[in-house]
Amino acid sequence: MPKIRKKQSFNHHKIPNLPERPLPARTFLYTAAIFFIYIGIPASLAIFLKNLPLKFLIVFYLVNSLVLLYFLKRNLKLAHRLKLNIQDLEEGENILNDRNLQEIKYGESLKERIRRYISLKEIIEKINQDLSLDYIADKLSDIAFSFIGQDRGVCILYLVDNATHRLKLFKARKEDKDMVIKTKEGDIFDLWVLRHASPLLIEDVRKDFRFDLEKLKSMDARNFLSLMSSPFVSENRFLGIIRLDNPIAGFYSQDDLRLLAAISDIGAVALENGEFFNKTRELAIHDGLTGLYTKGYFLERLKEECKRNIRQGRDISLLMLDIDYFKNYNDEFGHTAGDIVLKNLSFNITGFFKDLDHIASRFGGEEFCVALLDKNKASARSLAEELRSKIEKTRIALRRQETKITVSIGVACLPVDASDEDELIQAADRAMYAAKKSGRNRVTNA
Ligand code: GH3
Ligand code: MG
Ligand code: MG
Repeated sequence: MPKIRKKQSFNHHKIPNLPERPLPARTFLYTAAIFFIYIGIPASLAIFLKNLPLKFLIVFYLVNSLVLLYFLKRNLKLAHRLKLNIQDLEEGENILNDRNLQEIKYGESLKERIRRYISLKEIIEKINQDLSLDYIADKLSDIAFSFIGQDRGVCILYLVDNATHRLKLFKARKEDKDMVIKTKEGDIFDLWVLRHASPLLIEDVRKDFRFDLEKLKSMDARNFLSLMSSPFVSENRFLGIIRLDNPIAGFYSQDDLRLLAAISDIGAVALENGEFFNKTRELAIHDGLTGLYTKGYFLERLKEECKRNIRQGRDISLLMLDIDYFKNYNDEFGHTAGDIVLKNLSFNITGFFKDLDHIASRFGGEEFCVALLDKNKASARSLAEELRSKIEKTRIALRRQETKITVSIGVACLPVDASDEDELIQAADRAMYAAKKSGRNRVTNA
């Protein structure tokens, strides 16, 4: 069993029993006794013996003086010992006061740590309220900037760009809102964290000889002296960095770094989930073959846009487009060739509308829908005509053979042809069938 160490005690500096201060009556008694011994006794003896020999008096006073001297010396020794004891006591008291102060400080820091770790729970809850990468990054930078940085200096969140494998500034929080952060791909400190995949705390950049300050100055003219940075690492995958810096040296403590590292650990998991969520969402809203929006997402967006356009009194036009005799094309060239045509057509549509505010979707098998935001019927019709002509002129190479397709397009407009998104789709669909009926490869208005 381990020995239990006895708590060190300072009580061994016992206060000695100080001699009681003589009371006035006692002082009077002492004085009377002294008078009696030095004057009373010799005087009585002189009266009694009639004649007191001088020798006797000298011996008497000498003996008494020696006795007095002895007591005086003892008292001096006692006083000296008392003085030493008082000094010891004062020393002990100082040590105790120091200890006490340390305990108070430790207690305060413990309280602060508990407060911070309770907040970590809240942070986790906050971050997990939404799965989008943007929301998570926003929350992480808000928390780090306010909670650790006390809304002072700068907080930057970098994410690793999967294409270039470099850091990319994703979010920033600044005390000075007008300040520009030039280091869009991180500075020497961020690159250090990236290389070592471990947190970094610098109390004063001028005193840290690991880093070349001249190089830093050429990268960023911002003025900061202290900084800390922690990486987002999830299952050995480096996702990014969160970093705080401040113009005051020694602004951040080891405790702050520990908290930042805890936040970046939680953040890494959340960011990875956000990435998966984004990817899944992208897959869900985009058609696998053409990359255009799926029907479901298109209808959702169209509904929102129709509502907004009605509120703002603006037009919204819809183009419903269907490939002519596509079944025959498939029969002649095969289904795979048909897929290539569908890809080619979607590429054509995206390129054609790239400078316009629009939503393009693969609405069905070989049916496409394009919503033109803020375009009236006349301009939508002329755009549809231009697109039809472009598609007709496009040559598609299939097995060294040049082929082409044509499309029939129906155009409808809100609010002239419909009052909501459902009516708008129906009107454009009817117009498209009218185009089919009247010979195909043409544009028809609702
Ligand atoms: P039209 O529209 O001019 O009346 O004639 P069509 O032959 O195009 O008739 P319809 O629109 O009804 O035909 C749809 C055809 O589109 C059926 C199918 O062969 C083809 N198709 C639908 N989806 C796909 C697809 O994903 N890939 C390929 N290769 N073909 C598809
Ligand atoms: Mg068709
Ligand atoms: Mg069809």
